[in-house]
Amino acid sequence: MALTGIEIFKLLPKTNCKECGVPTCLAFAMNLAAGKAELSACPYVSEEAKEKLQEASAPPIRVVTIGVGDKALKVGGETVLFRHEKRFENPPGVAILIKDTMDDAEVDARLKRFKELQYERVGLVLSPDLIALKDESGDASKYEALAGKVAKGSDAGIILMSENPDILAAGLKACADKKPLLYAATKDNLDKVAALAKENSCPVSVKGSNLDEAAEMTEKLIEAGLQDIVIDSGARTVKQAFQDQIIIRGAALVKKYKPLGFPTITIPAEMTDNPMKEAVIASMFIAKYAGIVVLSDFQGESLFPLLVERMNVYTDPQRPLATTEGIYEIGTPGEDSPVLITTNFSLTYFLVSGEIESSRIPSWLLVMDTEGLSVMTAWAAGKFVADAIAPFVKKSGIEDKVKHRKLIIPGYAAAESGGLEEELPGWEVLVGPREGSQITAFLKTWSP
Ligand code: SF4
Repeated sequence: MALTGIEIFKLLPKTNCKECGVPTCLAFAMNLAAGKAELSACPYVSEEAKEKLQEASAPPIRVVTIGVGDKALKVGGETVLFRHEKRFENPPGVAILIKDTMDDAEVDARLKRFKELQYERVGLVLSPDLIALKDESGDASKYEALAGKVAKGSDAGIILMSENPDILAAGLKACADKKPLLYAATKDNLDKVAALAKENSCPVSVKGSNLDEAAEMTEKLIEAGLQDIVIDSGARTVKQAFQDQIIIRGAALVKKYKPLGFPTITIPAEMTDNPMKEAVIASMFIAKYAGIVVLSDFQGESLFPLLVERMNVYTDPQRPLATTEGIYEIGTPGEDSPVLITTNFSLTYFLVSGEIESSRIPSWLLVMDTEGLSVMTAWAAGKFVADAIAPFVKKSGIEDKVKHRKLIIPGYAAAESGGLEEELPGWEVLVGPREGSQITAFLKTWSP
């Protein structure tokens, strides 16, 4: 359970030695409570206090890792009900379903889609995360062969889906080293699946016939010494599954109810046969509050919006996406090429650079650090004004790269043009367009 700043303060040495970087132990305690400091910054905390504080600072929803290496996926670890309270921590894994009754061509096509459906947006690569292997044949050797093929053909995290422990064991023979999620322990197979999870150090999901049963099962798994647990409440109607997600999150965070303090798995693939409806259901679970979303298949037109939604929901609302300050070359600019300046809000940067690129006029783009604010906001906040822009232009090094002295500023900062010419003697300031879509037409009029 999270401690308040005062409760944390009582456990600190109270010497105010300042070695943690703040003037008092109380200030450090307040920062710790707000998640703005690490306990390790204080070298004098006693072992006993450390234990108490570490236990208290563990997130109310456990972080569970599926897979290994670079592609290992962390789910859970959430600490708030609403994104605006702080931020959501670990984006839900999006999984494609492959059944052991599918022929090789279909399995290959799904693996291909899994690998190819990746998208670059505002400098990030958006891609799915998991492959869910469902047993439908009841044939252990067939299932083992499928798990082997997928484990060899992809480094993605795997979900082994069967309620038959023998089939799960067969799947594990082929991919235990990948630490797959075992789905699912039910009330009929709990002991055997728990033993498999323990032997292979794999995460395990419970599947209840309702939420109460799921909670009873997580308690049994905890008693059996397992911690890396995922919850499926078993609901397959949209209304019930949605309610369960909210109850699980609320019970873990508000009531501190340990049996529900785990990430969840949702399976829109089992809630409808209509692909578009399935995408809509998945979008609901991405917003509230799934740890994993299993889709029956991937299609670009539904996967892309889901991945963008996930990126947006899991972006820290208090920290805008920002691009590094500096000079960006677009095309192969030379000493007569235009020089434009903009702010380092990622979306602004990608819009402006994209428009310059499509104009096919090689240019220099100066990106100024405005703490991730867009042009209008940064200008209104006094961060993109003449006496801030001028020193940046001087120190940027652009004067060594071009012969001319013409600077194109965004139309929204037009009011700064006069002040900027005063601050940058020898430079002519040109006011560019307000909208990115007019950049091409503007650049066509360029002459150094
Ligand atoms: S380093 Fe520890 S003892 Fe020193 S001021 Fe910070 S919290 Fe207090």
